[in-house]
Amino acid sequence: MDSALIWFRRDLRLADHAALYHALKNSRRVFCAFVFDRAILDLLLAEGSNADRRVEFIHGAVTELDAALRARGSGLIVRHAPAADTIPQLAAELGVAAVFANHDDDPYALERDARVAARLAADGRHWQSFKDHVVFERSEVLTAGGTPFSVFTPYKNAWLKKLTPFYLSAYPLERYAASLAAPPAPTPLPRLEEIGFAPTNLRTLGIVPGEVGGAPLFADFLTRIDGYAQARDYPAVKGPSYLSVHLRFGTVSIRALARAAWERAQAGSAGAATWLSELVWRDFYHQILHHHPQVAERAFRPAYDRIVWDDDPALFTAWCEGRTGYPLVDAAMAQLNQTGYMHNRLRMVVASFLTKDLGIDWRRGERYFARALIDFDLAANNGGWQWAASSGCDAQPYFRIFNPVAQSQKFDPEGKFIKRYLPQLAGFTADEIHAPWEVPPLRQRAAGCVVGSDYPSPIIDHAQARARTLARYAVVKEKPE
Ligand SMILES: Cc1cc2nc3c(=O)[nH]c(=O)nc-3n(C[C@H](O)[C@H](O)[C@H](O)COP(=O)(O)OP(=O)(O)OC[C@H]3O[C@@H](n4cnc5c(N)ncnc54)[C@H](O)[C@@H]3O)c2cc1C
Repeated sequence: MDSALIWFRRDLRLADHAALYHALKNSRRVFCAFVFDRAILDLLLAEGSNADRRVEFIHGAVTELDAALRARGSGLIVRHAPAADTIPQLAAELGVAAVFANHDDDPYALERDARVAARLAADGRHWQSFKDHVVFERSEVLTAGGTPFSVFTPYKNAWLKKLTPFYLSAYPLERYAASLAAPPAPTPLPRLEEIGFAPTNLRTLGIVPGEVGGAPLFADFLTRIDGYAQARDYPAVKGPSYLSVHLRFGTVSIRALARAAWERAQAGSAGAATWLSELVWRDFYHQILHHHPQVAERAFRPAYDRIVWDDDPALFTAWCEGRTGYPLVDAAMAQLNQTGYMHNRLRMVVASFLTKDLGIDWRRGERYFARALIDFDLAANNGGWQWAASSGCDAQPYFRIFNPVAQSQKFDPEGKFIKRYLPQLAGFTADEIHAPWEVPPLRQRAAGCVVGSDYPSPIIDHAQARARTLARYAVVKEKPE
């Protein structure tokens, strides 16, 4: 075809990009566009805060992408408008035959893309979309009976069985890069403030948006990947990859990551094999959302929607603000609120605490995470929350209730992580810090932290909460599902 438009969304990179490759291969001229989608951004602003690390990350990644395209004689056409209207309009202005994009299976994105495709079709243009964000998507990995998996381990086995180097090979850019076209009328990128947002502490945190941020992070992780299985559960240790935000916005290629992990795993690295499993969890939750889109609102197991939650607003606020009196929970919430990231072990701990200690509906925690996490991903977040609340596919059984003190003793034994985020507890010993309310008052004074004044008393008693939770969850057993 003569010309096409490539619409970048959660794939803000040039390397190994499925839709870009197909657009370039099939068209003589390819224009590139990104839309700061007002249908999403205006909702964020209406919720009251114009400081959002994700928007700043995207803005930085788009700036880098534009520069990389300019270096190749092209450049991004950037709009700040509702994407569903703008893309068909832009396609008409440019007179392109087709719009190319990568799949985005979030319910909002599917609906938006269906509208775009319909508008393009009405104008006689094509919509072409491709898998890019996951290794296997939608119905690519099914049970022998042809149905979707809802249990992780057999899914993972089938995923690994299906995997060949073909699925992980990169889409080359260079072969067809000459087709990249310059925007007809180059316009400068809007500044962050011009789209209504203010800078956050993103850069101070050392988070570098774009491919220039993702590549060194992955290179650093590859020097540690062999130790991942041992280190990954300890939040005070630099164990995980911290690549989630780059995976979220496509500033790294999932194929490149999975390829490196697979090769290392095949060479005998247990750490790489464990890390590859985490990437499979990511695909697993994406296919769950695809086959069961109702999970975005409801429990995967319908019986769990019979649970009557306490939903105490004061307890919820204390959880959000990290004032529960349980140090590991509070330090985890401080990490989230101050950085937009939370270690995976801690996500499980605080989600269990909200649902099973405080008796609050998992959807409220899920929504709080959706607003606060820089790596927020509907499929993974929903999967994680429903796992913790026991309402999900292959979830934690409802009678398994994390003890927040035992989790703290096990995964932050010296209290190093706690002290990083709660410096007022720095005077406590490794034995004392996990349950400071049990420390005798004189010793609290000597440690410079009196519970009740310098640090909150526990807002609930775990043993009592546990008993209430078991009673609350009894409704899931009353009727067969
Ligand atoms: C309640 C809860 C909410 C969560 N919300 C999100 C979310 O919104 N976005 C998100 O990306 N992850 C989410 N996770 C999964 C996991 O906690 C994060 O992916 C991980 O902590 C990100 O850090 P990392 O990149 O250093 O992880 P690593 O340990 O280095 O893992 C590598 C990658 O594997 C994927 N991954 C790891 N664990 C999981 C998992 N359990 N489910 C799905 N993918 C996984 C992620 O893409 C991650 O970046 C959630 C987990 C829980 C329990």
